[in-house]
Amino acid sequence: MAQVDYPEPVKALIGQLKQLPGIGPKSAERIAVWLMQQGNEVASTFSDVVRFAGDSVLECGVCGFFSTEQHGCAICDSIQRDTASLCVVEQPTDILPLERSGAYRGLYHTLRGRISPLDNIGPEDLRIREMTERLQSGEFTEVILALSSDVEGEATGNYIAEILAVYPELKITRLAQGIPAGGGLESADELTLMRALQGRVGL
Ligand code: ZN
Repeated sequence: MAQVDYPEPVKALIGQLKQLPGIGPKSAERIAVWLMQQGNEVASTFSDVVRFAGDSVLECGVCGFFSTEQHGCAICDSIQRDTASLCVVEQPTDILPLERSGAYRGLYHTLRGRISPLDNIGPEDLRIREMTERLQSGEFTEVILALSSDVEGEATGNYIAEILAVYPELKITRLAQGIPAGGGLESADELTLMRALQGRVGL
């Protein structure tokens, strides 16, 4: 006798939910069943916001942060930022903890990854060319490397510092120790990040 399972639409939903980060098969099943039990209104609101976020959230062509505009973003377009400082991060999600720390008011540049030979990610796969193009304006006086404190983060920071050596007038700093070893910015609390920013050291 064939084993009874969820109807196809529920199985399809579970299949999609399982792909989400941090969601295992059991959680996917629980969420799918919960959604079904909430009725049409909740399920359709959920699908609307997912579609809306997918359609309307873009990558800022300047800094790489999330944006809903065709050009620029809330940070690049702000007139209240210190336009002499550029903070280089790996991912757009790294910008949020730095913003929440309140210790930094400059601009950002997202690399969209880091150098990792094991994953076949080289400098050409990162937004390094876009960064050097921004620096050519001569507007920036400091570049802060806010990268992970692991081997790949170190290698990426060293590579960028080498490239930036052609700008002798540019001060290059990195976050002070305090970011958990092997961790990214996401794993650091606001106070740690604030201290790491304030105690940044020159390269
Ligand atoms: Zn931007």
